[in-house]
This record gives sequence, C-alpha cells and structure tokens, in this order.
Amino acid sequence: MRTLYHFHGGIHPPSNKTQSTQVAIARAPLPSRLIVPLHQHAGEAAKPIVQVGDHVLKGQLIGMPDGFVSSAVHAPTSGTITAIDMQLIAHPSGLPNLCATLMPDGKEEWVERKPVDYRSHSHAELQQLLRMAGVVGLGGAAFPSDIKLRIGKQKITTLILNGAECEPYITCDDMLLRERAAEIVQGAEMLRFMLDASKVLIGVEDNKPEAIAALQQAIADSGMNHEVVAIPTIYPGGSAKQLIRVLTGLEVPSAKLPTDIGVQCFNVATAYSVYRAFAQGEPLLSRIVTITGNVRQAQNFEALIGTPIDELVALGVALPDTNGYIMGGPMMGIPLPAVHVPVVKATNCIIAASAKLFPPPLPAMPCIRCTRCVEVCPADLQPQDLFWFAQSREFGRAQAFSLFDCIECGACSYVCPSHIPLVQYYRFAKSEIRAREHDKQLADQARERHEYREHRIEREKQEKTAKLAVKEKAAQAAKLNSLQPPTPQQQAELADLEAHRAHIRELAQSGVEHPDEGIAKS
Ligand code: SF4
Ligand code: SF4
Repeated sequence: MRTLYHFHGGIHPPSNKTQSTQVAIARAPLPSRLIVPLHQHAGEAAKPIVQVGDHVLKGQLIGMPDGFVSSAVHAPTSGTITAIDMQLIAHPSGLPNLCATLMPDGKEEWVERKPVDYRSHSHAELQQLLRMAGVVGLGGAAFPSDIKLRIGKQKITTLILNGAECEPYITCDDMLLRERAAEIVQGAEMLRFMLDASKVLIGVEDNKPEAIAALQQAIADSGMNHEVVAIPTIYPGGSAKQLIRVLTGLEVPSAKLPTDIGVQCFNVATAYSVYRAFAQGEPLLSRIVTITGNVRQAQNFEALIGTPIDELVALGVALPDTNGYIMGGPMMGIPLPAVHVPVVKATNCIIAASAKLFPPPLPAMPCIRCTRCVEVCPADLQPQDLFWFAQSREFGRAQAFSLFDCIECGACSYVCPSHIPLVQYYRFAKSEIRAREHDKQLADQARERHEYREHRIEREKQEKTAKLAVKEKAAQAAKLNSLQPPTPQQQAELADLEAHRAHIRELAQSGVEHPDEGIAKS
C-alpha cells in the first residue's frame, strides 16, 4: 500500500459528476462545418499550408508547427477548405483568431496512416512524430507534449499520469478511463519509454471506482508494472503540483518544474492520444467533451476538433432558461464569448449555465481578515495579502508574496465570506506584471539597439581616422625619400644620361641627325 501525502488546504465543492456518467461516450455526428483554429495550443500558432478551395483528406496536415513551442493542426475530416480567416474562438480575451473552415464531404476519407513501432525509433524521432501529430496536453493547458518530453540530461524517475479530474461537472477523463483503459496503459508505457522513467503512477480520485477498476484490469492484462493509486477526493487534487505532492511527498519548488525533481506529469487523455499517434498513425483530430449543466441529457461525446459548440450542445438539449455557457469547470473555466465557437484541443467540458445553477455573485464586501482563504489555499499563499497588493497595484510586493505560484484554482474565492472575486484580482495583477515586463523588454531592446548604433558610428569614425593617419604617414615618408642623396647606382645612371645628352648636343652642332631624335621629331 503506497503512502499518500497531503497538500495544504483544498475544498469539497459539490461534484455534480453523476449526471454525465450514466451513459457511455457517444460519437458526435459530423457537424455542418468545422472551424479549426491554427492556434489551439500553448506557444506559437501553426502556419496554414492549405488554401481556400483545396480538397483535404481526414488527418491531412493543414497547419505546420511554427517555432520551437508549437504544434501541428490537421483536417478533422475530408472536405473542402472554404475560408482561412479570423474567427471568434473560446479564449478569455474574446479576441478572434486565424481559423481554417472546412466543409465536410461526408466521406471521412483518410490520408495514409503510418503506425510506428516506438521501440525502434530514437527519442528525438518520437518527439518529432508527436509534434507533427499535433499531440498536446488535454488536461486544459494544451502544452505541446513533445516539449515536455525534451528533458535533456535530467533524470526522470517517476512518470505520473493524471486521472484525478478534480473539477466539478467534468467527467471526460473518468469516462475515457472506464472505456479505453487498455489504450491509456499502452500510451503510458510509450511515455515512460520516451522519458526513461523507472516507474509509472496513475493517480485517480477515489470517487471514480469504475475507472480505477478498469485501469487495474488493463494493467493486469498488459503485464506491465504501472501502479494505479486511488487518491482522496479533494479540490484541486488534480493540479500537477498537488498531485505530485500527494503521490510522492515531493514539493515542486517555486519557479521550478516537476522535471527539476525527477518527475513528469501527463493527463490520461494525452496518453491516449500518444497511443493513437504511434499505434494507429492518427494525429489528434478529436477529443472527449462533457456536455452537462442545464441540459436535458448530460453526456460525454467524442467530438471532432473544430465542431461548433452549439451543434454539440444541441445533442444534450439545453433547457430554455440557459443563460450562457462555460468551457471547463465552474472553478477554473471561462465563459464562452458565443456558443458557435469551435471545440479545440483544450475543450474538456461545456457547462450550460442558468441562474439556478450559478446564481449571480453577491456584491463584494470589504475583506474582514478572517483568513479562511489562507486555510484553503493549496499553494500555501496568503490570498488576502495578494488581494490587497493587487488592488493597490503594488505589483512588486505581490510578486514578492509569490503571486506566480497561485494556480488560480479559485478555492479562496469559493470560501470568502465577503464574496471577493479574488482570482480576478490575481489574474489582473499577473497580466499587469507581464505587460510591464514585456514593455521593459521592448525598452531594453530599443536601448541596446541605440547603444549598438552609437558604438558602430564611433568605431567607424575611429577606423577612418586611423586610415587617414596611415595615408599621411605614407605621404610624409615619400616626401622624405625624395630629399635623400642619390645612391651610387642612381649616380651612375645620371652620369650616363648626361653623357648621352652631351653627345647629342655635339652631333647637333656638327649637323648630323641622331637616329633617336629623328624618330622623336617625325
Ligand atoms: S476569505 Fe475573504 S474576507 Fe476572509 S481574509 Fe480572505 S479575502 Fe479577506
Ligand atoms: S486561487 Fe491562488 S491564492 Fe486562491 S487558493 Fe488557489 S492558489 Fe491560493
């Protein structure tokens, strides 16, 4: 029996998960159109490599990774590209992004799929294959998986698969574990191989007994040594740093990565995508999305990336009093700017909201220094101090109080009796600090450019002066040379010349024409 550790704080909000786990995952029908954003992962956007009017096959590359942290984007089905333009997507900024619109032809005609035996490839080749298969973290951050596998000389002892899924309402990982555990176990082994990790721990919250049983069976069938660990159900136990703490007792230090302590963490759905990329030669074209909340039938759907969310929600039938939609969970999710935005690789859940499910927040009151927020903070921070610094724009002090260790879990806001939207203040402070750092970086670059220019002008001036000095010196030397007495050889030549001239004078006086002079005259 593995010893489990605790992290500081945590809360127990109502889970609201049973609504969407009553029926199996269904495959969403082909939508009327697919809107595929070129930027649906952390890092640089992919570069479009198709044009309007092109016919594409399912799985065909349509966006080439562009930059070190980037990932490929593929056509989710066969059809015709009808637009490449800016469209609204699910992003907190509410700003549009470059998307390729694809009209399906209904044939689901695949490009050639090339499964690979991962054991016969180098780590670098496998990383490149994942990059080109568009595999990114499916737990929410959408960080390109190949980057998390580029660990250099760091030694990874433990690979952790995150099946905790601690946010209320979301059940896509739970259902994937129940129904496709064998593939996830194979994907975990592929990730372990690429990291050279000595052990694999799969953490699943103990409110998912079916998922735990399915995993245990799949591991027994595979003959592998992966370990399934049932962890206590507490929010935010599925956050990477907290899960690592619970499973290993290790703390990821501030401003460090799990790899710095010999651990790497992937979501279970990411492991499933890795399996499909290698074993079936399929890029990441779809994902499981929980449709829940104010709907008639909550359920998980396997939806193609790019599916308009309104077409997906229609499958669950939103109730008439629905007043908005949230992508993600109620704690960390974002309100959708419009319901027609597309499913992206990070879309794990869509919650139809209503005033009954999510009553409007009560007006914020002054902080009463009750420290309830401190008690629940999983990052062991002082949320009320961070709030004060953010509100008074003392960003330096907020940073000194480890603002960037805040994982924005919302546990502090959840318990605050003064209803202060604390996380909004932290997000504001972080974005202000990042904007200032960006401005400073630009100013530093401009100053460096100016200094370099000044230095170059000065250097050119000095070079010119030096060249002039050399020339002057050479001219002076030449002048000096001309004032020197003739050498014996020069004296002999001058004497010859003088004798020759005297001979010519004599001939001229005697009236005889010298042959050379004649030529000169003619
Ligand atoms: S929970 Fe709210 S009122 Fe209490 S200390 Fe924290 S911020 Fe202040
Ligand atoms: S949102 Fe940040 S400050 Fe609040 S409890 Fe979570 S980690 Fe702590």
